[in-house]
Amino acid sequence: MPRPIQATIHAQALRHNLERLRRAAQGARVWGVVKANAYGHGIERAFDALRGVDGFALLDLQEAERVRALGWRGPILLLEGVFEPRDLELCSRLSLWHTVHCTEQVDMLALHKTHVPHRVFLKLNSGMNRLGLPPSGLRTAWSRLNALPQVDEITLMTHFSDADGPRGIAAQLAVFEDATRDLPGERSLANSAALLRFADVPAVRGDWVRPGIAMYGSAPDHPEHDSAHWDLQPAMTLSSRLIGVQRLAAGDTVGYGSSFTASAPLRVGTVACGYADGYPRHCGTGTPVLVDGVRTRTLGRVSMDMIAVDLEPVPAAGPGSEVTLWGRSRSGTVLTIDEVARAGGTIGYELMCALAPRVPVVVEDPDL
Ligand SMILES: *Cc1c(COP(=O)(O)O)cnc(C)c1O
Repeated sequence: MPRPIQATIHAQALRHNLERLRRAAQGARVWGVVKANAYGHGIERAFDALRGVDGFALLDLQEAERVRALGWRGPILLLEGVFEPRDLELCSRLSLWHTVHCTEQVDMLALHKTHVPHRVFLKLNSGMNRLGLPPSGLRTAWSRLNALPQVDEITLMTHFSDADGPRGIAAQLAVFEDATRDLPGERSLANSAALLRFADVPAVRGDWVRPGIAMYGSAPDHPEHDSAHWDLQPAMTLSSRLIGVQRLAAGDTVGYGSSFTASAPLRVGTVACGYADGYPRHCGTGTPVLVDGVRTRTLGRVSMDMIAVDLEPVPAAGPGSEVTLWGRSRSGTVLTIDEVARAGGTIGYELMCALAPRVPVVVEDPDL
């Protein structure tokens, strides 16, 4: 028997979340962001449930090829654009739309030979200071692109740094509107947080929204709001089983470094899951976990292959009992990936993306 650990991808949850985001988009078209192998869920595994998107957005050219190989004929957008001139040949061949965020990418396009003009997303740096042309350079880039026979339509795009937090989007939205006021073309601004939190502002929705994390069921603005608040369902469950039980006396310790000491007699379960499976080692004593669908806590340090859990709230649990590290237990109890991430000082995004290759993954799809 293989180790009992397993990840489950819930196709029904992906469909539900996409539907939820489509409602928020109020008619704007929806890019399903599937970069980083669909945030760790697997592009091939998530594809069928996400067919309802208007296009797939990602940034790795090989991932774009994988989406085409699945038979997708709709739009695919490269969120970072091309990295070198020959990438443009793949864009022509697979008809990939691509972001243009710097003058070097305009230069590459000007030298590219193609019979099919490219659809480009011209990116403005409105304050995130990562990718994008400065407001002062946007007009020149737009005019150059507009004059190129290699270019078809130009969509104007920007990305928010604080859609999930107290700074919000107002300042960046003002920069974007100011810089693009008299330029024609479609607009694309919103990630998950902007779409959920500012869905009432038509300028934020624009013509294309770009949700990623919310499609996978994580709340982009946790802990201010949780996924239930946004009516999002977990698309990934990481589950395993207890493979051992220890009875501790007061004063006994658990795991490497003896970082947890029992203050009273205590039953401790050993779970077949560790940091080599993608469970964050930074999650210390007290990280929430479900045993047989009952909420309890981890104890001591996370090992490479094992974690210890407190069995006091689940007296009937023993070897073979179901453990839910995040996601949904068989009984239906949900432990959000956001809560676990927070206990480890990180965000749900990182945990999804870090699911280790050694963990077997199954797709659960009642529609198949
Ligand atoms: C990753 C990404 C998104 C999606 O962000 P979420 O926070 O996951 O919704 C949208 N736009 C761009 C440019 C991105 O890189």
